[in-house]
Amino acid sequence: METPAAENLGPQVNEGGLNFVEQIIKEDLEAGKNGGRLNTRFPPEPNGYLHIGHAKAFIMDFGAAEKFGGTCNLRFDDTNPQKEDTEYVEAIKRDIHWLGYDWEDRLYYASDYFPKLYALAERLIKEGKAYVDEQTSEQIAAQKGTPTTPGTNSPYRDRSPEENLDLFHRMNAGEFEEGSMVLRAKIDMASDNMHFRDPIMYRIIKTPHWRTGTEWKVYPMYDFAHGQSDYFEGVTHSICTLEFVPHRPLYDYFVKELADESYCPRQIEFNRLNLTYTVMSKRKLLQLVNEGLVNGWDDPRMPTICGLRRRGYTPASIKDFVGRIGYTKYEALNHIELLEHSVREDLNKHATRVSAVVNPVKLVLTNYPEDKTETMLMDSNPEDPTAGTHEMPFSRELWIEREDFMENPPKKFFRMTPGKEVRLKSAYIVNCTGVKKDADGNIEEIYAEVDFDSRSGLPGADRKVKGTLHWVSVPTAVEVEVRDYDRLFAVENPSAEEGDFRDLLNPDSLKVRTNVKVEPWLAEQAKVGDHFQFQRIGYYTVDPDTTADRIVFNRTIGLKDSWGKQIKK
Ligand code: ATP
Ligand code: MG
Repeated sequence: METPAAENLGPQVNEGGLNFVEQIIKEDLEAGKNGGRLNTRFPPEPNGYLHIGHAKAFIMDFGAAEKFGGTCNLRFDDTNPQKEDTEYVEAIKRDIHWLGYDWEDRLYYASDYFPKLYALAERLIKEGKAYVDEQTSEQIAAQKGTPTTPGTNSPYRDRSPEENLDLFHRMNAGEFEEGSMVLRAKIDMASDNMHFRDPIMYRIIKTPHWRTGTEWKVYPMYDFAHGQSDYFEGVTHSICTLEFVPHRPLYDYFVKELADESYCPRQIEFNRLNLTYTVMSKRKLLQLVNEGLVNGWDDPRMPTICGLRRRGYTPASIKDFVGRIGYTKYEALNHIELLEHSVREDLNKHATRVSAVVNPVKLVLTNYPEDKTETMLMDSNPEDPTAGTHEMPFSRELWIEREDFMENPPKKFFRMTPGKEVRLKSAYIVNCTGVKKDADGNIEEIYAEVDFDSRSGLPGADRKVKGTLHWVSVPTAVEVEVRDYDRLFAVENPSAEEGDFRDLLNPDSLKVRTNVKVEPWLAEQAKVGDHFQFQRIGYYTVDPDTTADRIVFNRTIGLKDSWGKQIKK
């Protein structure tokens, strides 16, 4: 296995335990900026479900507010009616709450500010700082220039404010077609910063908006809407990802039109979360959903928050992972194994231990009476002193894992093999005596004899035997469905590959097992969302597809952690 990138392992914090964003906030508060206020915001566009990258962002936004006694707003950046929907709004709220954060009464929409933004645009037009351009988007792009050569002024750049204002009003009245006109800021077509080359402020969109209906025909662009929305809300620290670094001068430029010494929002950027074996682009995730390449936004293979939740990942594990990777100024690719390590660590503390046989073969204890049953006591969670024990029936016929038996084993195979003893967990030591095979040589049944003096709790149980197997009693076993998952993509960094990302999907990312045998105690209490450790196998979570007659489990993660050691080094 590769070594994790250095960025994954360092604490990324200073001596005071603060990351660089928190350090900036602390200094601003100490300097008394903005009257000593801290107000952050999380600004999702409701055009898709949140993924774990968004979680990194809002853990920062809400977390910093919590840490310094400030507040954090939830603001839906709903400036593009063509792609947005209330389904996404509700899902986003649910996911933020699930991670334990609350915006209280601070729920806002960029569309709340359409009147104020429009009024500011009118003011800038009157002051000669904005103009209506009638060129096509291709013409505008062609005049943009390159980072090393200046752009060309639009032939419409020097219209009079009166004419611009009239055209802008008529754009909003619906007189012109989409794409026929835009409102541009008149800044500097030769600026070193490409974003300053007369950026577009407004475009015409005729699709009705899910909140404001047909009231508006012009919609503000991100750069014109975002900083002003921050200002209108009283946001002091507008924390976002590194791709917005080149936008920051423009953010400041527009905000200056409103702000003064006493209060001015400030943009700070950190590195995105990128995870191996998956994609984070909402556009690509939407494509996977729409084309049925996954089973919806909450498919347990998806990096979406609802997908991770369904898979069985916990809020604590996601927060732990985000804390480990930290916040820096450098882009990195984070290893999914590190997230899985956090998941295992949390589930190890909380998941109830149960017996389940995922690939069953029958074991018959030939000297155990046919009509006899006993009740064995199982530890429900050795990591949790309050978890106690539960009872599990034992009988002559048991299910064990097919992989736990080998007829001709290599050295160091300490599971079941003819002529050797092995312990059945919390029950007896048994001695394997043989097998029955079908015509093709497949093993149908395994036979063993019980040492009755070795029953768990008796002195004879203390005998040293290498290997302990889990088991489920046949007559009382409950059959359940288990969905096993592998990586969604077959390559480590699908976004870095040429060609169509869909060709890189792992064709074997979902495997369904329908004959998994579990102990009856588990079947009685399993509720959707509950986490269990199938002993010796892994962590499993009850799926919402569970019905009255069939429990469905998602395999959350296996027990083996080849990553943990590297982290502890
Ligand atoms: P879009 O391409 O539609 O803008 P987006 O993923 O940036 O997609 P937004 O709804 O704009 O979606 O994101 C809300 C916030 O989440 C932004 O502040 C953005 O910086 C942050 N964010 C998005 N992706 C990540 C990521 N992978 N890691 C950290 N933060 C992210
Ligand atoms: Mg975005």
